[in-house]
Amino acid sequence: MGEPHVLLLGAPGAGKGTQSKRLAEAFGIEHVTTGDALRSNKDMDIGHMDTEYDTPRAYMEAGELVPDAVVNEIVKTALRSADGYVLDGYPRNLDQAEYLSEITDLDAVVFLDVSNAELVDRLTGRRVCDDCGANYHVEFSPPENEGVCDGCGGELIQRDDDTEDTVRDRLEVYEENTAPVVDHYREKGVLVEVDGEGAPDEVFEGISDVVDDAAN
Ligand SMILES: [Zn+2]
Repeated sequence: MGEPHVLLLGAPGAGKGTQSKRLAEAFGIEHVTTGDALRSNKDMDIGHMDTEYDTPRAYMEAGELVPDAVVNEIVKTALRSADGYVLDGYPRNLDQAEYLSEITDLDAVVFLDVSNAELVDRLTGRRVCDDCGANYHVEFSPPENEGVCDGCGGELIQRDDDTEDTVRDRLEVYEENTAPVVDHYREKGVLVEVDGEGAPDEVFEGISDVVDDAAN
């Protein structure tokens, strides 16, 4: 078998990004996110796809949502060029899950299980430096001085995305569109759940064990 193909699922705030990065480093595989894949394929020719614009860049510059079909194509390109990968943030809905099953085989599907209350705490506590972009959390990784960046002295702000109302909206969208994806893999009997509420190192160990098992 080649390098492992891993799908990491979980709600916003479950820690997918952090854990995917560590996994990619530990196993020497690519960390594939829709956002990164889009950015690195901005100029892909999609003229044949009967879309409004000829490139993903044109959608982004127009401030419009890139259509599902284009996102699918870009994910396919990213996965093809990766030997092994951890996929993070895709599929977001059942249609995408269906598409994914046509373009690749998964060795491990891991779900990071975190309660809603914990997700809300994590997401609403995020602060980011307005100057250098460093990330903090009021509870889990506070700066030395409240509201001030340790690195550059800049002001720490809460992104609009992280206010309580927006967070609840994001979690609702997840519940509606992406939770069925989790159920889909659970019904297929391939989903492995990892407790996502422990310390990051413990969570990482849990995920690594699943990937190790799948790779052997
Ligand atoms: Zn800063």
